Amino acid sequence: MTRPRKLYVKSFGCQMNVYDSHRMADMLAPEGFAETARLEDADLVILNTCHIREKAADKVYSELGRIRALKAAAARHGRRLTIAVAGCVAQAEGQEIIRRAPAVDLVVGPQSYHRLPELLARTEREGAVVDTEFPVEDKFDILRAPSREAIRARGVCAFVTVQEGCDKFCTFCVVPYTRGAEVSRPVMKIVAEVERLADAGVREITLIGQNVNAYHGEGPDGMPWTLGRLLERVADLPGIARLRYTTSHPCDMDASLIAAHRDLPSLMPYLHLPVQSGSDRILERMNRRHSRAHYLEGVARMRAAQASMAFSSDFIVGFPGESEDDFRATLSLIDEVGYASAFSFKYSPRPGTPAADMQDQVPEAVKSERLYRLQAAIDRHQAAFNARCLGRTFDVLFDKPGRHPGQIVGRSPYLQPVQVMAPTTMIGEIAAVTITEIGANSLFGELVQTAAGAEPMLMEA
Ligand code: SF4
Repeated sequence: MTRPRKLYVKSFGCQMNVYDSHRMADMLAPEGFAETARLEDADLVILNTCHIREKAADKVYSELGRIRALKAAAARHGRRLTIAVAGCVAQAEGQEIIRRAPAVDLVVGPQSYHRLPELLARTEREGAVVDTEFPVEDKFDILRAPSREAIRARGVCAFVTVQEGCDKFCTFCVVPYTRGAEVSRPVMKIVAEVERLADAGVREITLIGQNVNAYHGEGPDGMPWTLGRLLERVADLPGIARLRYTTSHPCDMDASLIAAHRDLPSLMPYLHLPVQSGSDRILERMNRRHSRAHYLEGVARMRAAQASMAFSSDFIVGFPGESEDDFRATLSLIDEVGYASAFSFKYSPRPGTPAADMQDQVPEAVKSERLYRLQAAIDRHQAAFNARCLGRTFDVLFDKPGRHPGQIVGRSPYLQPVQVMAPTTMIGEIAAVTITEIGANSLFGELVQTAAGAEPMLMEA
């Protein structure tokens, strides 16, 4: 009997890549590939790369160096180890990856994952293959659905891609070049995917897209639907207790999305809404297409519709030309919004983007000093937000065992990890928890007995 082949997939970066990694594993399961968590056991390694963070390509090449040694060792034992590089670095670097790392057998861009079995067969016949095309066929029509077992193994929270690509062209970002123009999936295909997930026990769905609130997929009536309408449709599906979506652009906060936050109890009151800078001058240089006032107005409209709304954001410090006054404008915006959490990065040029060629790059030492101050401000607001949770009662969706015996961990509506003493049989359930202690990285709480259908108590910002 032949040994089943083992697949090791490593995802870097965003949730879109996690979703894509699952789809690649689903595509390869019928070809006899079973997933393994041990790199040493793999017959096929896929690095699903991200180009957003600094030195992304360098990290991929250093990882490839390590895997090349494993490939050589496998060959000495008469075993073939195939190496594939997928994701945005694959799309951006293409043939260059094979030139710099000749041990790589396949370079595959995000639009070609549905062709994986065929591309792998080609590597066996022809040697190294590069496929970074934007094909005309719809990959979502060809990608295989996960098995019930695969869905179960991945837990009670799942991502569903509803939109890909971006037409915004922020001057620092590679996404419009690596993922292409905005494309939205039809409503009923998303509904069918969510139904399959719910049927296998998934309770929380995050709709994902590079620019998710620009969603405009075809509805069952043949008309383009907004994200707000899509959320309303998905919220109706039995079994789905929680909905989220990410990542949103401040220019695409339309009335239907705000109404969805007002009207849908399953839509969590927590929104990741990247602003990047609080200075209008820098926002313009970033080509963000919104001003500080426009962003704050969006936040205010959301809060007016849903008082328990909280926000997170992304920030770039030291964008070319950023002065101390520009940076202070970002700090004051952080104070004005009072974020529950945020991600922050020093600007680093991405080859091929307009900002990389701007002349007035900010010195590294200035960027580091500003990042330090910005993170201190974010930490202060996050600590204040968490402190306000003390003594409150939230619905928590439990998704895994805790680190200590008898403990399980779940997520609050605001994505904070919440630890409670409870049996593992409660994993997959939602229960009311009163927060009794605030830790450095998570909250601690006690289960509350509530009447069925009791409303969770949410934060008022
Ligand atoms: S909105 Fe801007 S930052 Fe976001 S993916 Fe599009 S170009 Fe990149």
